[in-house]
Amino acid sequence: MNSSSLVDAKKRALHLKELMAHYSYEYYVLDAPSVSDAVYDGLMRELKDIESRYPELITPDSPTQRVGGEPLGKFSKVTHTSRMLSLNDVFSRADVEAWIVRTDKLAPGRTHEFFADVKMDGLACALVYQDGVFIQAITRGDGFVGEDVTENVRTIPSVPLRLRQASGVERFLHGRTEIRGEIIIYKKDFEELNKQRESEGLALYANPRNLAAGSIRQLDPKLAAARPLRFRAYDILRDNAEEVPTYDFAYDVLRKIGLAVNTETRVFSDIDQVVKFASAWETMRHDLPFNTDGLVIKINDRALYRQLGVVGKNPRGAVAYKYPAEEATTQVRDIVLSIGRTGAATPVAVFDPVVVAGTTVQHASLHNADEIARKDIRIGDTVIIFKAGDIIPQVDRVLVELRPKQSKSYDMEAELQRQYPELTFVRPEGEAVYRIKGATGPLLLKKALQHFASKGALDIDTLGEKNVAALVDASLVYDLADIYTLTKEQVENLERFAEISAQKLVDAIAVKKQPELPRFVYGLGIRHVGVQTAIDLAEKFGSLQTLQEAALDDLLAVEGVGTVVAESIVAWFADPDNQTLLEKFEKLGVAPMYQKKAHGPLHGKNFVVTGTLESMSRDEAAEKIRSLGGTFQTSVGKDTAYLVAGGKVGASKLNKAKQFKIDIIDEASFLKLVDT
Ligand code: NAD
Repeated sequence: MNSSSLVDAKKRALHLKELMAHYSYEYYVLDAPSVSDAVYDGLMRELKDIESRYPELITPDSPTQRVGGEPLGKFSKVTHTSRMLSLNDVFSRADVEAWIVRTDKLAPGRTHEFFADVKMDGLACALVYQDGVFIQAITRGDGFVGEDVTENVRTIPSVPLRLRQASGVERFLHGRTEIRGEIIIYKKDFEELNKQRESEGLALYANPRNLAAGSIRQLDPKLAAARPLRFRAYDILRDNAEEVPTYDFAYDVLRKIGLAVNTETRVFSDIDQVVKFASAWETMRHDLPFNTDGLVIKINDRALYRQLGVVGKNPRGAVAYKYPAEEATTQVRDIVLSIGRTGAATPVAVFDPVVVAGTTVQHASLHNADEIARKDIRIGDTVIIFKAGDIIPQVDRVLVELRPKQSKSYDMEAELQRQYPELTFVRPEGEAVYRIKGATGPLLLKKALQHFASKGALDIDTLGEKNVAALVDASLVYDLADIYTLTKEQVENLERFAEISAQKLVDAIAVKKQPELPRFVYGLGIRHVGVQTAIDLAEKFGSLQTLQEAALDDLLAVEGVGTVVAESIVAWFADPDNQTLLEKFEKLGVAPMYQKKAHGPLHGKNFVVTGTLESMSRDEAAEKIRSLGGTFQTSVGKDTAYLVAGGKVGASKLNKAKQFKIDIIDEASFLKLVDT
């Protein structure tokens, strides 16, 4: 094991635990959370991930091991006869499948049914009945010890003070019966209450869950009685556990003896049905009278459920299938700079990939230097991200408590210099944006379009410097994709064109509607992406879509792609302007194609050409090498196979070639190699 990563993980876990303990205190004890559940769950996920990699870091006080918070101390404490647990979260079909595989391993050969119910977002509570009479209500507390809140719970109308007699369930009215469930407040009741408070000029309550918890955990039962609290049951415990063979049966008994239970429950025999049910509820849940953040899925057979046991604070036999959260936490790995169409530099945060509202997010625009300074976003920071308008990911704020000690404020000017040493940027008075000095939109567009149409890129006949200038100056094109919208009529009106030449240009563009992927990628003009890099990227990712979604680490895995190149690629694809451009290409039917080439005779051989060749230009030599599967390099390295010498070789190249034992060949030998 890498000891420094263990040290880092230990530090990070400690910080996460400290911050989560604070959030838990606010949530469970004060009933006044300062962050959303999604944020808390995001940190929990990270901590779980660290603990699964380094199990030696699991401590008894970890929030992965402990349920809830400390009891408040206002009420007398009661030890639970059987521990009140939490639930492990799952977020996808794959997670559910992994859960089933785990349970199958522990109970091989047992087929199981699943029992599903919606997950209520309230306060867990245990009701104790002796011979059918309500005698005690206990909060979950830390799972082992809860608080006696009998007098407050007694005021809830849906808590029966005596269980109902019904045929077939008489035994539950004898001896001790413990009923577990959730104390909730309906959304409409909550809204009404808040409306009333607003009219009285009082502070509004944060959410139904915290109001329910706060109402139960205050000392005056009259106050609890005044709140619209409800109880819904989800479990029944007897001294003899075999009296309740399945969850299905449990709900039936609960209903019969007078408790409210959800009517949305189902029993399923396979995972497909479970997943279908979950996705149906993802939208239907908004019509439920109470808040829910997912489904609870349990192994229906309670003997098997018990046999599976507990890990940490969670039963192995059940999971909470949570709906995609609209917020998440992640770490900023890097801040890269993208130069847009107008020459403006846009900083883009690169994250550890994280799922927000159902899709994986790896970067977000940070807009400009002022925005970074205002939110003080730094590399290494843990941030809360959300999706604005459900589509574009944005950074909400930094969790400063988790900031690495050595972190520094982001210096955009210094970063511009590091990432674009060849350019000069200016920031006009009163503006938040840095721009390339002297550059204007049309000037940059002309350069970009010329490059896009050039020989190494799409190789569009007759779209050279002058025609490009004519099209841009006549405002016929505003971006690269616009050339595909040109009509003969539009073009022939321009001074430089006549009917035939206009038709020729439009046709030349039309035949490049399915360009080769490497040419297209090169043509986009992503800084540091030359012909060879574009080829390597196409080879590795196979499609524009996959390249677009590549994370920094995926890019770094490509031969010859270092940090600067990878950053530049990520920045380009993360820029909203570029995303719009790619969408436009797609809408216009421009579809780059890639066919993996069979390995040519020069496959795996890297060439450097120095000096001048007589029979062909350097570009032609490069083309020839590539067409035969070889790689054209611009400088000599360890992996170079041949140095092609057009005339005399310079001393430094010669030394390197000797050092790396590279074959130096003349033009004639080169021609023999490529003459197939
Ligand atoms: P949990 O509440 O998410 O899940 C377990 C609980 O679900 C059970 O104990 C039970 O009471 C309840 N439940 C609801 N419907 C149920 C049903 N039909 N069947 C069975 N059980 C049902 O887990 P938890 O560990 O108790 O609490 C974690 C929750 O608290 C998370 O949502 C977390 O985000 C939130 N939290 C938030 C903060 C914050 O600062 N925002 C801090 C701490 C915890």
